[in-house]
Amino acid sequence: MVEDMQGKEIEESNDPLAAEIRDTDIVFDCPHCGKNLVIDYRGAGLQINCSDCGESVLVPIPEGMELHDLDLDVGEVLKQLFATRKNFQKAELEIQSLKARLVQLKEALTVMQEVVAEGLK
Ligand SMILES: [Zn+2]
Repeated sequence: MVEDMQGKEIEESNDPLAAEIRDTDIVFDCPHCGKNLVIDYRGAGLQINCSDCGESVLVPIPEGMELHDLDLDVGEVLKQLFATRKNFQKAELEIQSLKARLVQLKEALTVMQEVVAEGLK
């Protein structure tokens, strides 16, 4: 059981919006490393980087809260948009390199299967 241990590990994230935990803050776990993250409600639905593992994380939108309830200013949204685009490009590059790796592995597998087939003759 890890109930209380994690609750106590709540720390400030690097986001200046999340200086302290308030009623309006969103508290959630990083889907990558499980770290407790705290962010101002205005961060709902936005992409942030986990303060622990650095992975990009989508801030959950609390029940009953609509995105248009948020009074985000345009500058903030643009900043977020650019960050999301950058993360998207990074992910695309990772996909490309994983695809290349997959091709290599498939080739290696084919060669190995041929060797095994030869050996069994
Ligand atoms: Zn994390």
